[in-house]
Amino acid sequence: MADTGGLPAGSALAGQARGGTPRAALAELLAGNRRFVSGQPVHGHDVTAAAATASGDQQPYAVVLGCIDSRVPLEAIFDQTFGAICVIRTGAHVLDRAVLGSIEYVVEVLGVPLVMVLGHERCGAVQATVDALCTGRRPQGQLAHLVDRIAPAVAEVGVDDPHVLPAAIRRHVARTVATLRADPRLVPPITAGRVAVAGALYDLATGEVALLDPPAR
Ligand SMILES: [Zn+2]
Repeated sequence: MADTGGLPAGSALAGQARGGTPRAALAELLAGNRRFVSGQPVHGHDVTAAAATASGDQQPYAVVLGCIDSRVPLEAIFDQTFGAICVIRTGAHVLDRAVLGSIEYVVEVLGVPLVMVLGHERCGAVQATVDALCTGRRPQGQLAHLVDRIAPAVAEVGVDDPHVLPAAIRRHVARTVATLRADPRLVPPITAGRVAVAGALYDLATGEVALLDPPAR
């Protein structure tokens, strides 16, 4: 494990999810990403069984919904240890009932104060959607479901836009955040200020996470 250099451990909020604020949870996630980018992770190399068992019961402080892309391992890019964050990954973070149910569980049962939606540059699922809309050829199988869910973001940008891919990626994050903020089970805790939903983007080239849609509070 790397020397923390006096920095607070990345799991400082783990175990404090209940009663923790969305703002503190967001700051913790972004601090972990800065450790990752700087090449000085606290937890990044400690993926041993001993570290896993030392975490004890899980008391995460955030849930991150990201893409399945193999270049975006969420615990690593936020430098988080076992028990610190819940992770959900689908192609281009597409929501379905299982994903929504999982997020509701994390918020309601585990008391997590922050939901982050993390898109990333050069997303293959968004590119597949752009291709489908450009060619008029809808993919076969359940990939069509992903494309259908991403298509509104691409359509809002317009396939003729020279920057359709990066713009649609950002738009799709915003749409996913908006859907979560309107979820009937999430509205009460969001209104009460106990829970926040934030949108962010991961840069494959630098490893940096940038907030796209910060929570209102
Ligand atoms: Zn992706």
